[in-house]
Amino acid sequence: MSSRPRAHIHLSSIAANWQAIDRLNPTATTAAVVKADGYGLGAAKVSRTLARAGCSTFFVAHFEEGTALRQALGFGPRIFVLNGPTGSHLRTYREADLTPVLSSEEQVELWARAPRGACALHFDTGMNRLGLSSTHRRDELHKLQPVLIMSHLACGDLPDHALNRVQLDRFTEIASAFPDTPASLAASSGCYLGKAYAFDLTRPGIALYGGSTPPETVRLEPT
Ligand SMILES: *Cc1c(COP(=O)(O)O)cnc(C)c1O
Repeated sequence: MSSRPRAHIHLSSIAANWQAIDRLNPTATTAAVVKADGYGLGAAKVSRTLARAGCSTFFVAHFEEGTALRQALGFGPRIFVLNGPTGSHLRTYREADLTPVLSSEEQVELWARAPRGACALHFDTGMNRLGLSSTHRRDELHKLQPVLIMSHLACGDLPDHALNRVQLDRFTEIASAFPDTPASLAASSGCYLGKAYAFDLTRPGIALYGGSTPPETVRLEPT
């Protein structure tokens, strides 16, 4: 049994925060990151609320979170699994209607041998800890026909950090090599860095729950 304290969650605030981020980047699709059980607030409830508000793309960390979320949401919304495939879940991704994010050579190799379905590719543009090399074996990566390419800003919460621009430039170059594939770079803090960082899809997590440090023009509600 969990002994976590109970809290009243204002689902309407989460929907309002998602809409505020959505308005901020009107040219991009706004997804929702609901990993860690919706940052502790309940992934199913949060996601159903966001789906009603118009969100159709969700990110979880683990396969099991994905299957639980699919049950909660039904078929329709796309659910990405950030941690990607492991050997034991290789064949069940398609059945579960989940989309793995491939972040390593090993996962690319696993997926290339699996009965394939949709996947996303996560490139390293400066974190130096997670993600595919942007230049390595691009032909093979194209063959996987990714439905999303993505990367993650290491210092997105520091708007003036030089690495943001470096990562933006690297990711822009990668995106141009996948001209028909939607691209995603911004988590919550990346959503505040301007249009150039929004690409086709943004991936706010903590901002939906009232966290992050938005600019003065953006008002998020505590949940
Ligand atoms: C956790 C995570 C996010 C969301 O990050 P926030 O800072 O909570 O908005 C986005 N993308 C990836 C790859 C993540 O792991």
